[in-house]
Amino acid sequence: MRKGPSVSGYAAATSPSLRDREDRFQPGDDAPSLCRYRRPDRPGVALIFESLCRGHSFGSDRKLTAMARRRQIYEGKAKILYEGPEPGTLIQYFKDDATAFNAQKRGTINGKGVLNNRISEHVFTLLGNIGVPTHFIRRLNMREQLIRQVEIVPIEVIVRNVAAGTLSKRLGLEEGTPLPRTLIEYCYKDDALGDPLVAEEHIACFNWCSQDELHDIQDMAIRINDFMSGMFAAVGIRLVDFKLEFGRLYDGDYSRIILADEISPDGCRLWDMNTNEKLDKDRFRRDLGGEVEAYQEVARRLGLMPEGGDNAVLDLETHRKKKGS
Ligand code: C5P
Repeated sequence: MRKGPSVSGYAAATSPSLRDREDRFQPGDDAPSLCRYRRPDRPGVALIFESLCRGHSFGSDRKLTAMARRRQIYEGKAKILYEGPEPGTLIQYFKDDATAFNAQKRGTINGKGVLNNRISEHVFTLLGNIGVPTHFIRRLNMREQLIRQVEIVPIEVIVRNVAAGTLSKRLGLEEGTPLPRTLIEYCYKDDALGDPLVAEEHIACFNWCSQDELHDIQDMAIRINDFMSGMFAAVGIRLVDFKLEFGRLYDGDYSRIILADEISPDGCRLWDMNTNEKLDKDRFRRDLGGEVEAYQEVARRLGLMPEGGDNAVLDLETHRKKKGS
């Protein structure tokens, strides 16, 4: 446990009485508490994430008013964070905006936010069930989930099973080459610098997290990789690589590391095991088209599509023909 500043909101977030109150909060509630529980901004609390509220629609004027009143904490590339209904909670909103290559390429993938919200809920819930602590509390609606507020560790943790992407480029490895062992890499979270690759030495030198915290992060990353590799293999998907983010959850003067952010096709490479078709954001990065169909296919195979959605939605051949390519 890392000793940290005393932030009553964080401690309250884990108390049973608060959990009771969270359970009574309903999506769209015109809850004045959305504005009431303001935490003073603290330097050093790097609340990552991504977003923009475009395209969000609520069902009624009343809900719209409630939304307008809530305080936006952070806006990133693919998500927005709003103040939550109770101290120590946030609402994570998933938008359809997509970026690649450090935001040099921008676009919109209609329906992506809804799919990522659902897929991430599913994965975080299963990880919670096997004992991985996460920030996820529950999904509120199509695009939003209630999460615990954490202090984000400014490191992106990349877990790789198969050579692809920047690893292939950097080391001249053919994409698709299985790695002799699982590889964990770290990038320093800094958009202006393009999230540079760093070594454990940098993490220690600049104290981005303690040695104990890094061990917890590594243990969790390996456990998450084992679980997710099996989960995706069971539905015919190869987990090539993925990115994780972690945060500190404070409990009084102490904190512990928990999994934060999201796990979705935005931050994973997912290949069909038989055809090697890409079912992830590389479809957007590499102008392959069929992004939504690919994300839907992942959701369908995980059993997350509504009744009647049993037929494969990923027909990339048809998609290409329709586009005339
Ligand atoms: O691009 P690169 O090969 O380094 O990406 C490795 C993995 O990490 C990919 O699954 C990619 O989607 C994910 N990633 C991410 N966000 C970043 C960098 C990488 O989700 N900023």
